[in-house]
Amino acid sequence: MNLTDLRRLGCPTCGRPHDLLVLFDHLGDAWATERWARVTCPGCDERCELAFDGTEVAIGFVRGALRPRFEPSMRIRQPGLRVTAAPDGMLIELLNRRWVLDRKLPDPQPL
Ligand SMILES: [Zn+2]
Repeated sequence: MNLTDLRRLGCPTCGRPHDLLVLFDHLGDAWATERWARVTCPGCDERCELAFDGTEVAIGFVRGALRPRFEPSMRIRQPGLRVTAAPDGMLIELLNRRWVLDRKLPDPQPL
C-alpha cells in the first residue's frame, strides 16, 4: 500500500479529519487488553481514544468508571494496518512505521 491508501478519522470534539499517521504520532497510553489507545487531537488538543479491531480503527471515547466501554463516533478500515496487543503494551504497524504504546490500567476520562 502507499500514502494514497491512507484513511482519515475525524476528531469527535473538533471534527477535524486527520490521517492515521498523524493520529498515531499523537498516541498516548494503551488499554492493551482491550486494544484501546488514548490520543490527543493535533487540531484541538483534546483527548479521545482509538479502538482497534483487525484492520478497523474507531475514534471516540472510553467512558465509565467501573466497567469502561468504548463509544465510537467514527469507524474506518485501514488496509495494511497491523496491531499486536500484549499484556505489557501494544504495537501498531502501518506503512513501514511502528508505534509502541505502554500498557495503561483502565482509567476512563472524567465525564
Ligand atoms: Zn480535535
